[in-house]
Amino acid sequence: MQPYEIYALKYAGPFTSSGAFLMWMKDWEKTEERNYYFWCIKSAVAIVVVDTGVSPQLASARGLNGYVSPKEMLGRINVNADDVAHVVLTHIHWDHANGASLFPAAKIYLQESEYRFWIEDSLAARPPFRFYTDDDSLSHLASLSDTDRLVLLDGDREILPGIECLLAPGHSVGLQAVAVNTARGTAILGSDCAHVFRNFQEDWPSAFIVDLAAWMRSYDKLRGKAASPELLFPGHDRLMARDYPQVAEGVTRLV
Ligand SMILES: [Zn+2]
Repeated sequence: MQPYEIYALKYAGPFTSSGAFLMWMKDWEKTEERNYYFWCIKSAVAIVVVDTGVSPQLASARGLNGYVSPKEMLGRINVNADDVAHVVLTHIHWDHANGASLFPAAKIYLQESEYRFWIEDSLAARPPFRFYTDDDSLSHLASLSDTDRLVLLDGDREILPGIECLLAPGHSVGLQAVAVNTARGTAILGSDCAHVFRNFQEDWPSAFIVDLAAWMRSYDKLRGKAASPELLFPGHDRLMARDYPQVAEGVTRLV
Protein backbone atom coordinates (compact mmCIF):
# COMPACT_ATOMS: atom_id res chain seq x y z
CA MET A 1 0.00 0.00 0.00
CA GLN A 2 1.31 3.41 -0.93
CA PRO A 3 2.17 5.54 2.09
CA TYR A 4 0.71 9.01 2.38
CA GLU A 5 2.27 12.30 3.34
CA ILE A 6 0.36 14.66 5.62
CA TYR A 7 0.44 18.44 5.25
CA ALA A 8 -0.83 20.97 7.79
CA LEU A 9 -2.21 24.13 6.17
CA LYS A 10 -2.46 27.08 8.51
CA TYR A 11 -5.36 29.21 7.26
CA ALA A 12 -5.59 31.67 10.16
CA GLY A 13 -3.82 32.76 13.29
CA PRO A 14 -2.20 33.25 15.62
CA PHE A 15 -4.92 33.86 18.18
CA THR A 16 -4.23 34.37 21.85
CA SER A 17 -6.27 33.33 24.85
CA SER A 18 -5.90 32.15 28.40
CA GLY A 19 -4.09 28.82 28.56
CA ALA A 20 -7.29 27.40 30.07
CA PHE A 21 -8.70 27.31 26.54
CA LEU A 22 -6.05 24.81 25.49
CA MET A 23 -5.66 22.93 28.81
CA TRP A 24 -9.13 22.66 30.35
CA MET A 25 -9.37 24.46 33.74
CA LYS A 26 -5.56 24.86 33.99
CA ASP A 27 -3.16 27.67 33.10
CA TRP A 28 -5.69 30.50 33.58
CA GLU A 29 -2.90 32.99 34.20
CA LYS A 30 -0.87 32.04 31.10
CA THR A 31 -1.42 33.52 27.64
CA GLU A 32 -1.14 30.98 24.85
CA GLU A 33 -1.24 31.12 21.07
CA ARG A 34 -3.11 28.83 18.74
CA ASN A 35 -3.52 28.59 14.96
CA TYR A 36 -6.33 27.39 12.72
CA TYR A 37 -5.53 24.56 10.32
CA PHE A 38 -6.86 22.07 7.90
CA TRP A 39 -4.90 19.16 6.48
CA CYS A 40 -4.13 17.50 3.16
CA ILE A 41 -3.23 13.82 2.88
CA LYS A 42 -1.44 12.99 -0.36
CA SER A 43 -0.01 9.99 -2.13
CA ALA A 44 0.85 9.42 -5.76
CA VAL A 45 -2.66 8.09 -6.32
CA ALA A 46 -5.02 9.90 -3.94
CA ILE A 47 -5.71 13.18 -2.17
CA VAL A 48 -7.92 13.57 0.88
CA VAL A 49 -8.59 16.92 2.53
CA VAL A 50 -9.33 16.80 6.26
CA ASP A 51 -11.50 19.71 7.40
CA THR A 52 -12.02 22.75 5.26
CA GLY A 53 -11.13 25.97 7.01
CA VAL A 54 -13.65 28.74 6.49
CA SER A 55 -14.93 30.80 3.57
CA PRO A 56 -13.65 34.34 2.93
CA GLN A 57 -17.12 35.63 3.94
CA LEU A 58 -17.04 34.07 7.41
CA ALA A 59 -13.39 35.01 7.87
CA SER A 60 -14.20 38.67 7.29
CA ALA A 61 -17.38 38.51 9.41
CA ARG A 62 -15.31 37.13 12.29
CA GLY A 63 -12.25 39.28 11.58
CA LEU A 64 -9.91 36.28 11.47
CA ASN A 65 -6.31 37.31 11.97
CA GLY A 66 -3.85 36.09 9.32
CA TYR A 67 -6.57 34.50 7.18
CA VAL A 68 -5.74 32.94 3.80
CA SER A 69 -8.48 31.20 1.86
CA PRO A 70 -8.32 27.40 1.87
CA LYS A 71 -8.36 27.39 -1.95
CA GLU A 72 -5.23 29.50 -2.02
CA MET A 73 -3.54 27.40 0.66
CA LEU A 74 -4.15 24.21 -1.35
CA GLY A 75 -2.91 25.92 -4.50
CA ARG A 76 0.43 26.41 -2.76
CA ILE A 77 0.88 22.61 -2.81
CA ASN A 78 -0.59 22.26 -6.32
CA VAL A 79 -3.98 20.97 -5.23
CA ASN A 80 -7.06 22.46 -6.88
CA ALA A 81 -9.99 22.57 -4.45
CA ASP A 82 -12.41 22.23 -7.37
CA ASP A 83 -10.97 18.79 -8.14
CA VAL A 84 -10.74 17.37 -4.62
CA ALA A 85 -12.83 14.19 -4.49
CA HIS A 86 -12.66 13.34 -0.77
CA VAL A 87 -13.17 15.65 2.21
CA VAL A 88 -13.33 14.31 5.76
CA LEU A 89 -15.05 16.64 8.21
CA THR A 90 -13.85 15.80 11.69
CA HIS A 91 -16.74 17.70 13.30
CA ILE A 92 -19.23 20.47 12.55
CA HIS A 93 -17.67 23.37 14.40
CA TRP A 94 -17.44 26.50 12.28
CA ASP A 95 -13.63 26.60 12.09
CA HIS A 96 -13.53 23.06 10.63
CA ALA A 97 -16.69 22.77 8.55
CA ASN A 98 -17.60 26.18 7.16
CA GLY A 99 -15.36 25.82 4.09
CA ALA A 100 -17.10 22.63 2.88
CA SER A 101 -18.82 24.64 0.15
CA LEU A 102 -15.36 25.44 -1.31
CA PHE A 103 -15.12 21.79 -2.47
CA PRO A 104 -17.92 21.45 -5.04
CA ALA A 105 -16.91 18.02 -6.36
CA ALA A 106 -16.03 16.31 -3.10
CA LYS A 107 -17.71 13.55 -1.21
CA ILE A 108 -18.02 14.75 2.40
CA TYR A 109 -17.40 12.09 5.06
CA LEU A 110 -18.98 12.70 8.45
CA GLN A 111 -19.97 10.57 11.40
CA GLU A 112 -23.71 10.07 11.32
CA SER A 113 -24.04 10.95 15.03
CA GLU A 114 -22.31 14.29 14.42
CA TYR A 115 -24.48 15.08 11.43
CA ARG A 116 -27.77 14.12 13.08
CA PHE A 117 -26.95 16.16 16.17
CA TRP A 118 -26.22 19.40 14.33
CA ILE A 119 -28.78 19.10 11.59
CA GLU A 120 -31.70 17.42 13.33
CA ASP A 121 -31.48 17.74 17.12
CA SER A 122 -33.18 20.84 18.52
CA LEU A 123 -30.57 20.90 21.29
CA ALA A 124 -28.04 22.10 18.69
CA ALA A 125 -29.96 25.39 18.43
CA ARG A 126 -29.39 26.20 22.13
CA PRO A 127 -26.88 28.98 22.87
CA PRO A 128 -23.88 26.92 24.06
CA PHE A 129 -24.01 24.83 20.89
CA ARG A 130 -24.87 27.70 18.53
CA PHE A 131 -21.66 29.30 19.74
CA TYR A 132 -19.62 26.59 17.98
CA THR A 133 -21.23 26.65 14.59
CA ASP A 134 -22.66 28.97 11.93
CA ASP A 135 -25.72 29.06 9.69
CA ASP A 136 -23.82 28.61 6.43
CA SER A 137 -22.16 25.38 7.57
CA LEU A 138 -25.45 23.93 8.70
CA SER A 139 -27.48 24.95 5.66
CA HIS A 140 -24.81 23.73 3.25
CA LEU A 141 -24.50 20.35 4.96
CA ALA A 142 -28.28 20.03 5.23
CA SER A 143 -28.52 20.66 1.48
CA LEU A 144 -26.32 17.60 0.84
CA SER A 145 -28.67 15.31 2.72
CA ASP A 146 -29.87 12.44 0.50
CA THR A 147 -27.27 13.17 -2.16
CA ASP A 148 -24.33 10.91 -2.96
CA ARG A 149 -21.99 13.73 -1.97
CA LEU A 150 -22.66 13.11 1.73
CA VAL A 151 -21.30 9.90 3.24
CA LEU A 152 -22.45 9.29 6.80
CA LEU A 153 -20.31 6.81 8.72
CA ASP A 154 -21.52 4.74 11.64
CA GLY A 155 -18.27 4.36 13.59
CA ASP A 156 -14.84 3.40 12.28
CA ARG A 157 -14.49 2.99 8.53
CA GLU A 158 -11.66 2.75 6.02
CA ILE A 159 -12.68 5.19 3.28
CA LEU A 160 -9.67 4.56 1.02
CA PRO A 161 -6.85 2.03 1.34
CA GLY A 162 -4.70 3.35 4.21
CA ILE A 163 -7.12 6.03 5.39
CA GLU A 164 -9.51 5.18 8.21
CA CYS A 165 -11.99 7.45 9.97
CA LEU A 166 -12.15 6.77 13.71
CA LEU A 167 -15.06 7.81 15.89
CA ALA A 168 -13.52 9.75 18.80
CA PRO A 169 -16.25 11.67 20.66
CA GLY A 170 -15.84 13.98 23.63
CA HIS A 171 -15.16 17.42 22.15
CA SER A 172 -18.27 16.96 20.04
CA VAL A 173 -20.95 14.28 19.84
CA GLY A 174 -19.46 12.48 16.87
CA LEU A 175 -15.98 13.86 16.27
CA GLN A 176 -13.86 11.65 14.06
CA ALA A 177 -10.09 11.40 13.85
CA VAL A 178 -8.28 10.08 10.77
CA ALA A 179 -5.72 7.26 10.83
CA VAL A 180 -3.28 7.52 7.94
CA ASN A 181 -0.78 4.97 6.63
CA THR A 182 2.54 6.85 6.31
CA ALA A 183 6.17 5.90 5.74
CA ARG A 184 6.58 6.02 9.55
CA GLY A 185 3.56 3.86 10.28
CA THR A 186 0.06 4.88 11.29
CA ALA A 187 -0.30 8.59 12.05
CA ILE A 188 -3.42 10.10 13.58
CA LEU A 189 -4.96 13.43 12.68
CA GLY A 190 -6.82 13.92 15.93
CA SER A 191 -8.36 17.29 15.13
CA ASP A 192 -9.87 18.80 18.29
CA CYS A 193 -9.66 15.59 20.29
CA ALA A 194 -6.64 17.66 21.37
CA HIS A 195 -6.10 21.35 20.69
CA VAL A 196 -2.36 21.04 21.39
CA PHE A 197 0.23 18.24 21.71
CA ARG A 198 0.23 18.73 25.48
CA ASN A 199 -3.33 17.43 25.71
CA PHE A 200 -2.18 14.02 24.50
CA GLN A 201 1.07 14.14 26.47
CA GLU A 202 -0.54 15.11 29.79
CA ASP A 203 -3.74 13.11 29.30
CA TRP A 204 -5.80 16.26 29.72
CA PRO A 205 -8.60 17.58 27.50
CA SER A 206 -8.89 21.04 25.99
CA ALA A 207 -11.93 23.29 25.90
CA PHE A 208 -15.56 22.61 24.83
CA ILE A 209 -16.40 19.27 26.34
CA VAL A 210 -19.66 17.49 25.58
CA ASP A 211 -18.64 14.19 27.23
CA LEU A 212 -15.51 14.01 29.36
CA ALA A 213 -15.63 10.24 29.90
CA ALA A 214 -15.95 9.64 26.16
CA TRP A 215 -13.07 12.04 25.54
CA MET A 216 -10.73 10.05 27.77
CA ARG A 217 -11.73 6.80 26.07
CA SER A 218 -11.04 8.47 22.73
CA TYR A 219 -7.49 9.23 23.93
CA ASP A 220 -6.98 5.55 24.68
CA LYS A 221 -8.32 4.56 21.30
CA LEU A 222 -6.16 7.00 19.33
CA ARG A 223 -3.02 6.14 21.31
CA GLY A 224 -3.67 2.47 20.59
CA LYS A 225 -3.80 3.16 16.86
CA ALA A 226 -0.83 5.52 16.44
CA ALA A 227 2.52 3.90 15.55
CA SER A 228 4.20 6.22 18.07
CA PRO A 229 3.16 9.11 20.35
CA GLU A 230 4.88 11.62 18.02
CA LEU A 231 2.42 10.65 15.30
CA LEU A 232 -0.62 11.90 17.24
CA PHE A 233 -1.49 15.34 15.86
CA PRO A 234 -3.80 17.89 17.51
CA GLY A 235 -6.12 20.48 15.99
CA HIS A 236 -4.65 23.87 16.80
CA ASP A 237 -1.06 23.65 18.09
CA ARG A 238 1.16 26.48 16.83
CA LEU A 239 4.04 23.97 16.80
CA MET A 240 2.56 22.29 13.72
CA ALA A 241 3.48 25.45 11.80
CA ARG A 242 6.89 25.87 13.50
CA ASP A 243 8.57 22.52 14.11
CA TYR A 244 8.03 20.69 10.80
CA PRO A 245 9.54 21.18 7.35
CA GLN A 246 7.91 24.09 5.56
CA VAL A 247 7.02 23.25 1.97
CA ALA A 248 5.24 26.52 1.12
CA GLU A 249 4.20 29.62 3.02
CA GLY A 250 1.92 28.42 5.83
CA VAL A 251 2.22 24.76 4.84
CA THR A 252 4.28 22.18 6.71
CA ARG A 253 4.79 18.46 6.14
CA LEU A 254 3.94 16.63 9.37
CA VAL A 255 4.86 13.16 8.08
ZN1 LIG B 1 -11.15 23.65 16.12
